[in-house]
Amino acid sequence: MIVKRKPLTFWERLYLPAVIYGFKVTVRHFFKKKVTMQYPEEKWAVPAGYRGAPYLVKDQEDRVKCVSCQLCEFVCPPKAIKITPPGPVPNAALGNVEKGPKEFEINMLRCIFCGFCQEVCPEEAIFLMKDYSLVGLARKDMIYNKQKLLELGGTHNDTIQKWKHK
Ligand code: SF4
Ligand code: SF4
Repeated sequence: MIVKRKPLTFWERLYLPAVIYGFKVTVRHFFKKKVTMQYPEEKWAVPAGYRGAPYLVKDQEDRVKCVSCQLCEFVCPPKAIKITPPGPVPNAALGNVEKGPKEFEINMLRCIFCGFCQEVCPEEAIFLMKDYSLVGLARKDMIYNKQKLLELGGTHNDTIQKWKHK
């Protein structure tokens, strides 16, 4: 079946009404409230409980809370966590801790920010922070090592303070 093309009317052939109509839309939006976010200078303020990137934390006495139990590694759905246990624990004699991770890596390209690692951690050593925008110039830049994870995680006040109990 051949569909006949509808001929243009006189006004349509002038094109000017269409141009004026388009210009009206432009002017209307020009005076509207601006909604464009100037990213990355401006970022979303995420609500409490937001699940961003997972980082390791230290306690208020600057001790690594992770005891290298590997539960998070086991439970992580995309296998984003790689732990090399055990590592020496500085000042182990002062506390009730047997081991810590020698190396702890999270591949942020694999991580789906599900929060299972935080849920399962018996030591409250890993927390999902509010970072949702992670960038790197190469794939290897997106594999965060222990040092970087601890720097980003910072200090987390611990009510349990296992280090103080023998
Ligand atoms: S948030 Fe989920 S995917 Fe990411 S490291 Fe933790 S368990 Fe793995
Ligand atoms: S972060 Fe928590 S769950 Fe993962 S190895 Fe360390 S103590 Fe275990």
